[in-house]
Amino acid sequence: MKPLLDRIVAGRYCVGCGLCASVAEPGALEMAENADGFLVPRRRKPGTEPPSLREFCPGITLKQPRAHRGPEKIYGPFASLWTAHAVDEEIRRKASSGGCISALLVYLLEQGEVDGVLHVGKAAADPLRNQTYFSVSREDVLRRAGSRYAPSALLAGWLDCLRTGKKIAVVGKPCDIAAVDRFLALHPEFEPQIACKISFLCMGVPSQNGTNRLVAALGLAEADVRDFWYRGEGWPGKATAIDAAGARREMSYEESWGRILSKDVNFRCKICPDGFGEFADVSCGDAWFAREGRPDFAERPGRSLAFIRSERGRKLFEAARAAGYVAAEPFAVEDLKTIQLSQYQRKIHAGVRIAALKLLGDRLLDFSGFCLLANLGKARLASVVRNFWGTVRRRRAA
Ligand SMILES: Cc1cc2nc3c(=O)[nH]c(=O)nc-3n(C[C@H](O)[C@H](O)[C@H](O)COP(=O)(O)OP(=O)(O)OC[C@H]3O[C@@H](n4cnc5c(N)ncnc54)[C@H](O)[C@@H]3O)c2cc1C
Repeated sequence: MKPLLDRIVAGRYCVGCGLCASVAEPGALEMAENADGFLVPRRRKPGTEPPSLREFCPGITLKQPRAHRGPEKIYGPFASLWTAHAVDEEIRRKASSGGCISALLVYLLEQGEVDGVLHVGKAAADPLRNQTYFSVSREDVLRRAGSRYAPSALLAGWLDCLRTGKKIAVVGKPCDIAAVDRFLALHPEFEPQIACKISFLCMGVPSQNGTNRLVAALGLAEADVRDFWYRGEGWPGKATAIDAAGARREMSYEESWGRILSKDVNFRCKICPDGFGEFADVSCGDAWFAREGRPDFAERPGRSLAFIRSERGRKLFEAARAAGYVAAEPFAVEDLKTIQLSQYQRKIHAGVRIAALKLLGDRLLDFSGFCLLANLGKARLASVVRNFWGTVRRRRAA
């Protein structure tokens, strides 16, 4: 049988977080872009298997141990739910939604609660790609604000970062944060260094090819892009490329995400039971306004959604509000389905999608605690059948 790492990558279950590369023997694995435009581990030394891979790889193992009641079956455990935005107008405007994540990070840094923040931003050498940064100031955080709808290997240097002994906040996709959570369960000695785990709602990571297609649709060759961002400068903001002559080319969020990027999402993301960032202390999303029963993407001052999921998250959020970094209002969970309909649909169909893979012989996936069966009961029979065959088709096309 092939080594587990190879089976994860071949099965297209790798989420590209990079934790395996970090914990493997030094120099054994590196994260590299594959032909589909996703970051996956590549061996630099033959045969190396990272220790405890089965236990921590979020591509195949996700275990939600906390009990779920009522709406938590869909949205994961949470203590409270808010709409929020950064009080600092520059952060609010530069960020993806309301800048809640960046405002919390600036609070942590300015109050001396952390030495730095491990998170992702635009790569210094290539505006179309991502890079992991250790931010230590408001200016650093501001530079990295905004969603990057492309692969990122947040945790490829995770152990090196922890071994500095610094106290950190970490921001990542739900799967990145699930990996951190599992890692800390295996290595509790590092827990005191983690001030906060922050995530965001995630419908899936588009490949690098998705970004390249977006740029092509803006009429540019990759080499001609001097700067590029997906969101920001308003809410939802526009995907914007600056060409070599300094001219701007723009595309609406609806078009860039809806027509291009969302068509190029990782196979593993299609079966994800954790789009709402259940393993984080705080997880944020877009608190869209609703119009005629659908999210309304008209430009407005930014507004984030914030799930407070732990006591540590509650203390941080309350302190940041009290200190004037974040403004917030309670949000009724009953109103969530309308504005996060795609997330809701994926969650209720996750069970049938995973079951389809198991029926096809998959032995890798070990997801538990997400109320998959109870949630499937909310789906219509016709859509259960459609989702089953959709997954079978996607798997066979892989
Ligand atoms: C791939 C992807 C899919 C998403 N899907 C949804 C969705 O379905 N529904 C929804 O409501 N929101 C979704 N979001 C989140 C949304 O775009 C905002 O990030 C969220 O509303 C928080 O906004 P903010 O203004 O508080 O964050 P900001 O203050 O702008 O901070 C964003 C933080 O996210 C980090 N980050 C950005 N891109 C990445 C990345 N690729 N990998 C790891 N970290 C990153 C940055 O480092 C930064 O710290 C998605 C984001 C991404 C990147």
